[in-house]
Amino acid sequence: MPRCLIPNCPNNGQNNITVRLRREDTSAIWAPNSEGYLCDTHADEGYTIDVILTPVATRTITTNVSAGGQIATRTTNIIHHP
Ligand SMILES: [Zn+2]
Repeated sequence: MPRCLIPNCPNNGQNNITVRLRREDTSAIWAPNSEGYLCDTHADEGYTIDVILTPVATRTITTNVSAGGQIATRTTNIIHHP
């Protein structure tokens, strides 16, 4: 099991941070999991989340997730067509 993303937290991260692009009918065009996880203790502390989109035109979504420590990166392919 992955470690919690919060620096110096010794707990396992059971809760995965994800991002999602939804259509008006709420179905997803993409909704990849990230490599970022939070433990139950840190899951409901509250966060400010900065979202910065960088167009890459590769039909992939790369997520870079950090809570001030190591950056957790994952790239997934977009398999849906709008
Ligand atoms: Zn934690």
